Amino acid sequence: MSAPSGYKVSAVDLTGFNERWFCSSCGFVPRLVVQTGLCEHLYCEKCLAAVLRQTNPVCVKCEKPLQHCQWFPDNFLRREIECKFVHCKNTALGCDWRGELKSADVHQHSCPYIPSPCRNDGCTNMVPAIQLTQHEERECSHRQIECEYCGSSMISEACQEHYQSCPNVSVTCDRCGKTDIPRGQLWLHVDPVNGDCNRMYCPFRAHGCSCDELLNRESLARHLSEDLSGHLLLLPRLIESIPQQRLAVSPPRGEIRQDLLAAEAEVTAHSWALTTHYRRQEKLVADVKALIVASSETARVIEQVSSEQRQENAMLRNRIERLEEEFERLRATVEGQGFSLNALWRFIRELLRLPQWLIRGRLT
Ligand SMILES: [Zn+2]
Ligand SMILES: [Zn+2]
Ligand SMILES: [Zn+2]
Ligand SMILES: [Zn+2]
Ligand SMILES: [Zn+2]
Ligand SMILES: [Zn+2]
Ligand SMILES: [Zn+2]
Repeated sequence: MSAPSGYKVSAVDLTGFNERWFCSSCGFVPRLVVQTGLCEHLYCEKCLAAVLRQTNPVCVKCEKPLQHCQWFPDNFLRREIECKFVHCKNTALGCDWRGELKSADVHQHSCPYIPSPCRNDGCTNMVPAIQLTQHEERECSHRQIECEYCGSSMISEACQEHYQSCPNVSVTCDRCGKTDIPRGQLWLHVDPVNGDCNRMYCPFRAHGCSCDELLNRESLARHLSEDLSGHLLLLPRLIESIPQQRLAVSPPRGEIRQDLLAAEAEVTAHSWALTTHYRRQEKLVADVKALIVASSETARVIEQVSSEQRQENAMLRNRIERLEEEFERLRATVEGQGFSLNALWRFIRELLRLPQWLIRGRLT
């Protein structure tokens, strides 16, 4: 359906118009009013022409056939209608123009309050033309703004959310209460090695250490040294978690970005070296543990063997003592009465059955 051709008069102005003065077709105040000859009903010139183009046209109001009907312009009524004072249809938006109906069209095209679409991406607001710049640059929730703390740009609507994560906004350390720390430097403050915060968690807490107390520097050092090897074994987990943490941070800009990229490359290289180092260390600890298990088994065997050895030694000592006695006896015999060859031969045979080191210790 095409736009109605009558004048659209706002509700405040309708009281000035006679209730008969409306177009029988479009229902608005008739533009270039014409009147049918037969039923004398009123139409806009354009509306009646449209009705007459239909086959077997009838009056919209009274349904009388209009086929061969006469019609004529009602110039008297037209002048009366066009001289009525009306308001601008943008009155509600702030326009205070008021003038004759015949000049309303001209005003409407240049009305400073004509609703205009906001040109910011994503905004669907229609704003009076005269306020458009103000809206687009200062009020629109979709306008681009720069963060007053870090200078990054975003749409206005997102700035409250950005402040919750902006690295330059000052925060308070919830461990020690220190204030005015730029959020992006909080990690430096709470760094267990280089930070100046004196209340900290064990750095391995998120990676398997069960200690969840806040410790001061001295207690932390004590805690770490009390279970050094246990913490050492958690290091690879801590190092492996670094790339995920890095991905969670939004990409920074410009120079800072350059610096960060360089630092990141260095950290990655160190992290790789450390990971390798601690993997090796971890393997070493495992090897040592295995070695300890193996050597305690060996010790048990040695203990067993040496007790057997002790018994054997005692037996040998006995035999040697007996042989020494025999030797003394033989020597006395040899020295006293000449020697018995058989007895000497028996002695030598016994002697030869002893381990050499025992003989050496005893008889020389
Ligand atoms: Zn009409
Ligand atoms: Zn009629
Ligand atoms: Zn206006
Ligand atoms: Zn807008
Ligand atoms: Zn910011
Ligand atoms: Zn602190
Ligand atoms: Zn710990």
